[in-house]
Parts: sequence; C-alpha cells; structure tokens
Amino acid sequence: MQKIKMKTPLVEMDGDEMTRIIWKMIKDILLKPYIELNTEYYDLGLEYRDQTDDQVTIDAANATKKYGVAVKCATITPNAQRVEEYKLKKMWKSPNGTIRAILDGTVFRAPIIVDSVKPSVKTWKKPITIARHAYGDVYKDVEYKAEGVGKAELVFTYADGRVERQTIHDFDGAGVVLGMHNTDKSIESFARACFTFALDQKQDLWFATKDTISKVYDHRFKDIFQEIFDREYKVKFDAAGIEYFYTLIDDAVARIIRSEGGMIWACKNYDGDVMSDMVATAFGSLAMMTSVLVSPDGKYEYEAAHGTVTRHYYRHLKGEETSTNSMATIFAWTGALKKRGELDGIKELADFADKLEAASIKTIDEGTMTKDLASLSEASDKNIVNTENFLKEINKRLEKML
Ligand code: NAP
Ligand code: MG
Repeated sequence: MQKIKMKTPLVEMDGDEMTRIIWKMIKDILLKPYIELNTEYYDLGLEYRDQTDDQVTIDAANATKKYGVAVKCATITPNAQRVEEYKLKKMWKSPNGTIRAILDGTVFRAPIIVDSVKPSVKTWKKPITIARHAYGDVYKDVEYKAEGVGKAELVFTYADGRVERQTIHDFDGAGVVLGMHNTDKSIESFARACFTFALDQKQDLWFATKDTISKVYDHRFKDIFQEIFDREYKVKFDAAGIEYFYTLIDDAVARIIRSEGGMIWACKNYDGDVMSDMVATAFGSLAMMTSVLVSPDGKYEYEAAHGTVTRHYYRHLKGEETSTNSMATIFAWTGALKKRGELDGIKELADFADKLEAASIKTIDEGTMTKDLASLSEASDKNIVNTENFLKEINKRLEKML
C-alpha cells in the first residue's frame, strides 16, 4: 500500500509525561506506516516552553489560526510543585488557556462510545457533547462577606460619568454578596462556536439557562443565541436538517437523562463545569473523553480531555510496566486528520481516520483493553494489556481493514 499524502501541514503540539510517550507510540505504530505525515511541529513540553519563555505556545496557537487544524498532546499546567520539579523560570500559564484566548474558542467534550462499556444512564446510546462557555460568571466574580447590618448596592459608572444604582439587599444582619459579569462579545463568540460546531457535526444544538429567574443576565444569553441563530445560521441549520433548541436548564437536565443522546449541549460556565463531569462519569472513563477547541471562525484544535497521567509516567520512569489508555489521544489524531482531509479534499485521509477509529473501538469490544476499562467493560473474555501492546493490537485490526 502506498502511503497517504497530505497537502496542508497539520499543526502538531507535543506535550508532557505519559501522554508524550503515548504520542510518539501512536505516530510510530499507527500513523507513520500509512501516512506521509505532514505536520508543523511545536514542542509544548514544559522544558521547551520554559526555554522559549512560552513563546512556543503562542506560535503554535498562531499556526493553528493560519492552517486551521491542530492536534495537541496533554501538557502540564505548572503549579508551585512543578516549578520546583522542573526548575522553571516562572509559573507559566496553562497552555490550553493561552491557546483558547488566542483562538477565542469554545471547548467541546464528547465520550468515545464502545458497545462493551455501557453508560450508567440506560437510555444513552449516542455521545452527548458538552460545550462549556469558558468565560466569566462565578469564575470571575467579586465576593464580599458582610459583617453586619447595612445595604448592598449594584453601581454601574459609565465612561461618560452617568451612574446607575440599584439596591441588592438591605441586610439586617451579617451575610454574603456576590458580583459577577459577562460580556456580549464573549457570549457571541460562544454562540458562534456552538452553531459552527453543530453544523460541522450535523447534530442538534441545545442551550439552556435559567432565564425565568435571571430575567436580565441569563436572558441576555438566550437573546444573543437566538439573534445570532436567526440572522446567521437558521438557513444553514434547515439545510443540514438539524435544530437549535432552547429550554430552561432544569428542563434540559430532565430531557437529557431521558434522551438517547446524540446532541450538543451548550452550557453556561458553571453548568458546563458540573454537567461535563456528570456526562463523563456516566459514560465511563476520563480516558475515553475527547475534546476539541473550536473558534467562532471555524479553526479546530483536537486533544484528549485527560491530563498527562503523571502517576503512570512516574511508574514508567522507574521501569515499571504501564497500562495507559491511549483512546482519547488516538481520537484527537483521527479528528484532526479527518478535518484536514475534509478541508483539503483528501478522501483517503478521512477514510483512514475512520478506519483507525473503528479498529480502536473493535479492539476494546473484542475484549482487549487497558486496565482502566477492566472494571467497566462487559466483554466476556478480557485481555488486559500494557500501553504499547494496546496500540499493537489496534494496529493488527487496522491492517486487516486497510
Ligand atoms: P490526569 O492526567 O487526567 O490523570 C488523573 C488520573 O486519571 C490518572 O492518575 C489515572 O488514574 C486516570 N487517567 C487519566 N487519563 C488516563 C488514561 N489515558 N489512561 C488511564 N488512566 C487515566 O490528571 P492529573 O493527574 O490531575 O494531572 C496530571 C497533569 O496533567 C497535571 O500537571 C495537569 O496540569 C495536566 N493536565 C493537562 C490537561 C491538558 O493538557 N488538557 C488536562 C488536565 C490536566 P490512576 O492513576 O488511578 O490509574
Ligand atoms: Mg469540574
């Protein structure tokens, strides 16, 4: 078989620890034998980020803007302990945060479904993709503990000096106050990224807030989504045969639990934080969650939802055997290759990605899996393998499919 050729480079962001080990194995075992990989490589490993004063992260994000598609390995977000461990010049910011800020993107997380791992919610048959708004609300609030009797007010001072004032509460004793905000600009970007991704996936988009109670704040979210949908996306949604559906958050929760899945669920920041953990847990394992950052103008960065799996890496360094699940990282690659193939009109590339996904799922369904899935899988004959052998088992099935 001749190797598949690529036109436009894929932006490749390497990362840290166990996922960096897996990254190389995936390329060597599953990709390079079949594809003439054309990537523009950025080393986002912590050492090189430190060496370049994190410029490499900014360069990688800008390359994603230029080429449109990136695949990213999990990376360490440094904390005090990491600064010590890696003797860092500085506590560098989260690479994901930096990339998201440059692309102005929204993160969509979806589980990889295999028949032999049944979701805890019996009705769920298809993946539920959560889109979390990643700006503002309670994550950028100002909080105050009132010590006694007094009045809390909401004051807005306009640039021209005009002042608007409202009473929040007349306290007759101690209590707490919270001020939070969001911006039309951020909500608009979030809405556009959600509509763009729904069209890309050909899946219905759901959005929910509590606008009956929060008549100004949450209602603004609802209005912005509706205005942008009507003006820019309604015709495209009709043509694609998909729907935009708004409802109250409590109604959405009830409907989601009774649904078959298969939709994209856009959530405000806090709801997305909570619901993505619920959905991930109900579908099984963190190692089976994929993640894609989508910008409002349709640039894509694919990655696994999990981190660098530090505990496994330390075992690997001691020469001990590991059984780390590479599914989400494989699906980051297949997502990116598929998108690249689609944009460049290279059908073989997209077909290859589909087959690699199918071979990976088949491997688990036939009972060969990493340790994390052992207790979740209902396969009759389980064969628990190490990190590398899992990839080799996938390759055996992939070879047959190609
Ligand atoms: P983690 O790497 O996701 O791992 C947490 C635990 O989940 C692991 O110890 C392991 O449990 C299990 N796990 C996660 N992925 C797995 C896989 N592929 N296969 C098997 N088991 C898996 O999270 P963390 O330990 O909190 O964070 C480690 C580092 O990752 C941190 O430095 C953090 O900054 C970084 N991080 C990066 C990203 C990103 O780049 N997107 C996201 C999150 C965290 P057992 O040990 O019980 O087997
Ligand atoms: Mg959370």
